[in-house]
Amino acid sequence: MKLEAKEDFPPATENDARSGNSVAAIRKSILDHIHFSQARLPVMATCNDWYVALAYTVRDRMFGHWMNVVQAIADPQRKIVGYLSAEFLMGPHLGNALINLGIHDNTRAAVAQLGLNLDDLLAQEEEPGLGNGGLGRLAACYMDSLATLGVPALGYGIRYEFGIFSQEIRDGRQVEKTDKWLRLGNPWEIHRPELSCTVNFGGRTEWFHDERGRLRIRWIPNRVIKGVPYDTPIPAFRKDFIGILRLWKSEAVESFDFQAFNVGDYYKAVDEKVVSETVSKVLYPNDEPEIGKTLRLAQQYFFVSCALQDMIRVHLIRGKALDTFHESFAVQLNDTHPAIAVAELMRLLVDEHDMDWCEAWTITRNVFSYTNHTLLSEALEKWPLPFFGHLLPRHLEIIYEINHRFLEEVRRHAPGDDGLASRLSIIDEGGQKSIRMAHLASVAGHRINGVAELHTKLLSRTVLRDFHAIYPDRFVNVTNGVTPRRWMVLSNPKLAGLLESAIGDRWICRFEEEIEKIAPLADDPAFRNHWREVKRGNKADLAGLIHERTGNTVDPDTLFDVQVKRIHEYKRQHLNVLHIVTLYNRIRRNPNLDITPRTFIFGGKAAPGYAMAKLIIKLINDVGAVVNRDPDVAGRLKVVFFPNFNVKNGQMIYPAAELSEQISTAGKEASGTGNMKFSMNGALTIGTLDGANVEIREAVGPENFFLFGLTVDQVNDLWGRGYNPRRYYEENAQLREAVDLLYSGHFSPDHQARFVPLLDTLLNHDPYMLLADYQAYIDCQDQIAAAYRDQEHWTRISILNVARMGRFSSDRSIREYCKDIWRIRQGV
Ligand SMILES: *Cc1c(COP(=O)(O)O)cnc(C)c1O
Repeated sequence: MKLEAKEDFPPATENDARSGNSVAAIRKSILDHIHFSQARLPVMATCNDWYVALAYTVRDRMFGHWMNVVQAIADPQRKIVGYLSAEFLMGPHLGNALINLGIHDNTRAAVAQLGLNLDDLLAQEEEPGLGNGGLGRLAACYMDSLATLGVPALGYGIRYEFGIFSQEIRDGRQVEKTDKWLRLGNPWEIHRPELSCTVNFGGRTEWFHDERGRLRIRWIPNRVIKGVPYDTPIPAFRKDFIGILRLWKSEAVESFDFQAFNVGDYYKAVDEKVVSETVSKVLYPNDEPEIGKTLRLAQQYFFVSCALQDMIRVHLIRGKALDTFHESFAVQLNDTHPAIAVAELMRLLVDEHDMDWCEAWTITRNVFSYTNHTLLSEALEKWPLPFFGHLLPRHLEIIYEINHRFLEEVRRHAPGDDGLASRLSIIDEGGQKSIRMAHLASVAGHRINGVAELHTKLLSRTVLRDFHAIYPDRFVNVTNGVTPRRWMVLSNPKLAGLLESAIGDRWICRFEEEIEKIAPLADDPAFRNHWREVKRGNKADLAGLIHERTGNTVDPDTLFDVQVKRIHEYKRQHLNVLHIVTLYNRIRRNPNLDITPRTFIFGGKAAPGYAMAKLIIKLINDVGAVVNRDPDVAGRLKVVFFPNFNVKNGQMIYPAAELSEQISTAGKEASGTGNMKFSMNGALTIGTLDGANVEIREAVGPENFFLFGLTVDQVNDLWGRGYNPRRYYEENAQLREAVDLLYSGHFSPDHQARFVPLLDTLLNHDPYMLLADYQAYIDCQDQIAAAYRDQEHWTRISILNVARMGRFSSDRSIREYCKDIWRIRQGV
């Protein structure tokens, strides 16, 4: 099939008010939208009106590119990536689109001619917080790289009405506020009601004979809802191409409640509408055990079913038969949240499209691949059988059949090894029977990937060991990456400008090959000066924002020591706090102590149901309150908790950091991507050998990375020998002093025992081995404090860190997915 739309459309000119990129055209376009799209008088337009008019103006300039993608999607020769993810943490669109479309400067000028400031309009955008953290942000970076590499891609997810809660800090504690990001509308999305799908739930299945007399199975659901897609274009960097983010909203099916309506039960009909809309209502925060489970499984099935129906529709439009579906689509499962897709594709092919089981299975196996994101056993998804069967009765049967055939293959492979079969089974038969979603994804996926070398290795030795034993070739590693467009060009314009003056701008798209060219400049004193000025400027900007958001005054001439990420015990924010308390004790003992002045900056959300994480937030704030007030400490230590860490705030924080805290217990962080953003922006890392830290350290050079702590093997060893955290407390005076001060209520005079649950956990169990790593951490921090005093040397290392981060662009990750997993050729 060939689309002619592009030829019919008049080619853009610089001054065309609908698509031109000149200052005059952009200005005209903004005014047109104020008038024609919003029916506002310019004199009465609010800041939000101008922002919306500008957003439409920018969006208009993507539609030409969109047509290229529509053509690529319609071209049966080109394989499309379907990226299935329950989360996409895109961050604000406007600034990124201006950069990628190459119209930032002209837009700033056009806006200025209208008497406005572009920064005010950028600030107006509500960020779509449709993700919890790293996993959702990874999906967003991958959408950027897919577009920039010219790979036709559809990102499929859920258009949550409420994204991740926004965090306020009151009295040092997290308070959650609903994220009403759609309140003032969303100018970036295009509503596509004509592409709606229906999705079934519940009910039962039954046998029947079809018109050809064959025995078939029919699903008779007891609920039907509709999925309506909203498309958001994701622009490539300076290329005539975009990716499409297609998010689904749940709605009531018009006809379903008709009967209720007819017999006069109007309220029941309305009720139905409310219930249907609930499915895409809210994003669930991580670490929220048990509660809201039905709705979560319903969400997963809902968006996955819509996505697969949509892909099948696209494939059929290409004029191809379903038996070549795998030639049209490579579908990536971003963790197990979309793993139900395996059973759903089988159902669509076998039940709805009348395909033979074996053929359908071959296609399914070719289509899917699975990215694992966690080794934490509590985070591995499992659904109790009766509950699953109640919501998805047909899928339960399909999973039984997949499992039956799979286990037969296993038994042929290892006759008599029933232990192996039960360990591999998709059904966990122990205790409460449940479906292991990681097993479902691993049975079906032709590739299983971890997200950092260490993680992939541990994956194949621990949670998926038995799969690795029988299918070693399915396992590949694709180390995560982040996009230099958002995380350098957009968020750190001062650094980008300096880099451009030194090596041009090819690094933005060819990061791996180009960025290393700045390495020799580490030896150039003038360049080092410029480098420090950039960092100093970013620190001053962040200091201003910190003052605005928290009332704290921080000194941009102190070492900015930053830990921003979700709050979790395994990430060990409280180890960082133990360091602060240790320094505080040293100063109390010797008020004239000569120490390197530091500003400790924390940020991150705790899952609303995770009491210990919330207590850690309170701990940071309570310690900060005392330390910041103490006259003996003044000018030497400052502790701030930056509220509501999200992409928008991250864009201000990463560029201002000098020290990046990546201090998780070895073996717990799958990859991390924050570690990459920091390092690309010139922060040095203090870190354990965990996740991608290992590869970052190798890349930047061990001498340019502050390593501390137990390795994975040492952690396992210590558990094996019997870990007794209290011994570390008893034998280490400095540690004891810090812990005792916390126990004493010094930081919580209004409630002396406040931190007892946290401290008791450390002394009695310490599941994340803070006490075992404490001394190594303190020693490493002392080295850092000394190193920071030699600013020339520090700057040198900072430059080398950036120069050697080439591998960590998400462009490299996506190239690897294309080659090793999707078997896709790159486009433009
Ligand atoms: C990058 C990022 C994360 C992930 O940070 P890690 O340090 O890898 O845990 C989480 N949230 C936001 C907003 C991010 O930008």
